[in-house]
Amino acid sequence: MKNFEHVSVANLTQAIQWLDDDAKPIAGGTDLLAEMKEGIISPRRLVNLKTIPSLSQIEYDRREGLRLGALVSLAQLEEHPLIGEKYPALAQAAALAASPQLRQMGTLGGNLSQSPRCWYYRNALFPCWLKGGQSCFAVDGENAYHAILGGEPCHSVHPSDLAPALIALNAQVRVVGPELDGSLALEELYRRPSEAHRRATILGPRELIAELSLPAPAAGSRSVYLKVMDRAVWTFALVGVAAALQLDEGGRVERARLVLGGVAPIPWRAQAAEEILQGEQLSAELAQAAAEAALANAEPLRDNGYKVKLAQELVRRALLQLGDQET
Ligand SMILES: Cc1cc2nc3c(=O)[nH]c(=O)nc-3n(C[C@H](O)[C@H](O)[C@H](O)COP(=O)(O)OP(=O)(O)OC[C@H]3O[C@@H](n4cnc5c(N)ncnc54)[C@H](O)[C@@H]3O)c2cc1C
Ligand code: SF4
Repeated sequence: MKNFEHVSVANLTQAIQWLDDDAKPIAGGTDLLAEMKEGIISPRRLVNLKTIPSLSQIEYDRREGLRLGALVSLAQLEEHPLIGEKYPALAQAAALAASPQLRQMGTLGGNLSQSPRCWYYRNALFPCWLKGGQSCFAVDGENAYHAILGGEPCHSVHPSDLAPALIALNAQVRVVGPELDGSLALEELYRRPSEAHRRATILGPRELIAELSLPAPAAGSRSVYLKVMDRAVWTFALVGVAAALQLDEGGRVERARLVLGGVAPIPWRAQAAEEILQGEQLSAELAQAAAEAALANAEPLRDNGYKVKLAQELVRRALLQLGDQET
């Protein structure tokens, strides 16, 4: 690892002053330091956000909803009783992410900004397209864990469990920085990498996530996060599904938000499935139709076709679970 400067700051204004093209913000360090050790990135300066007290708040107001500072840990999200009660998908996503030690260290802001786990990206010997190279090695290479939706030109998958849950729960993110300052829907933070913009978020080098806010759940709101892994615990999603529904007293869907992780370079909102659900009575047939619609545009690579069925099944189960029906 190359030498670097480490600067601790007291507030976001100071943090932004120290950030530039050659600097990186660091929170828990569980992803950033791994990238540095592997020689994938070599920032000249790390700006330590952990010393900013205002980024650690968890506040709930029954009208305004929930506010979470960027430094809230995954363990706090998992264990906070109010989050488990009002926003179950978020608590479940946090509980299913990584290992207990990583959940203590890892923060909300870092989790939402983490880099892809694509093994070509993580290996400094492969100068792949996302790192500024010419081609995506996953197209003809080992692509069992790669994207089945929205994959061109980078076929990596979005790794965060929290992001799909938060987007399903209609979260807003507050971003601070010289170019981007204000609140936006969390799903707008993510953008598929393109020739002009080889990264999966719209954040520039001097932009920071300050806070997430979630609306207070309306009557009849339910949510769930389901995840399939290639081993029982402590690893990334092959597929993750977050579903948030608002049901009327008779079980009719008033609102639906469905977001998939592990299937595309960004958290993938399944809008066609949401439209199928809207206004309908939740039933096994409806859940199956929504599951098929969610994956209708899937374009698997050579080795990851299994993810299509997996994702369909997870969507179906998530919906039936929310409708209190047999899965
Ligand atoms: C073995 C292993 C298994 C894992 N399994 C899972 C899993 O199953 N599910 C899952 O979701 N995650 C998983 N992770 C990822 C882990 O959850 C993340 O590494 C962690 O949440 C990142 O948080 P951090 O605070 O440590 O971020 P850091 O490592 O400090 O930062 C990560 C990135 O975010 C940037 N950053 C940090 N804070 C901010 C901010 N406020 N604003 C803007 N940019 C910021 C940093 O510059 C860096 O680029 C796993 C990691 C490992 C090592
Ligand atoms: S999928 Fe993306 S990160 Fe992986 S090799 Fe291709 S361009 Fe690089």
